[in-house]
Amino acid sequence: MSYYSKATFFTSAPDISHLKDDTGIEVAFAGRSNAGKSSALNTLTRQKNLARTSKTPGRTQLINVFELEPDRRLVDLPGYGYAKVPLAMKVKWQRSLGEYLQKRKSLKGLVVLMDIRHPFKDLDQDLIQWAVDAGLPVLALLTKADKLKSGKRKEQLLMAREAVLAFMGDVTVHTFSALSRQGVPELESILDTWLERHKGDESEPA
Ligand code: GDP
Repeated sequence: MSYYSKATFFTSAPDISHLKDDTGIEVAFAGRSNAGKSSALNTLTRQKNLARTSKTPGRTQLINVFELEPDRRLVDLPGYGYAKVPLAMKVKWQRSLGEYLQKRKSLKGLVVLMDIRHPFKDLDQDLIQWAVDAGLPVLALLTKADKLKSGKRKEQLLMAREAVLAFMGDVTVHTFSALSRQGVPELESILDTWLERHKGDESEPA
């Protein structure tokens, strides 16, 4: 059983400012709506319905927190980029997101999910830059990798690795597919580092 399959629903918060328990270590997942964030979380945790795919564009979404073990959490941030969301709401969300990235002590890494066919839209770039400026490591995960043939996939990966140099921070890029499970070991390995897990952590005591 993988460590990540132990994830259970922990809590929901209507807003980042309502997140409590700033202890231990958490890793946040963010992306444009439809980027494949829920699918990636469900694939990582080997659970079909842990993260729900949102069917109602523009609806206020909760932040969902999943616990792996006491003081180890995955935070599912609401998808962004809906054209129909009122500007005032967007501004408010961006402000609280910026604050979360800067002030949350337990936050040790940010996974930004982007469709491999069109990564680095404006808000993706803003988010990565805010995280870098806050001193956080970022994993840019290029999702739905199965949608591209291998040549094109490699080309997109190389392009993305070149593009992230501009952020001047700790930004890693990997491809990922919820369909083929390609990229799961790479994602797990980075999360292991951020969550300060070491080889043998999951082994049973003798
Ligand atoms: P979210 O809004 O970011 O949580 O995105 P979802 O996980 O709900 O995925 C959005 C759409 O993309 C859904 O129709 C998924 O079935 C599809 N999708 C997500 N991941 C993959 C993937 O790895 N491969 C393929 N082919 N489709 C995917």
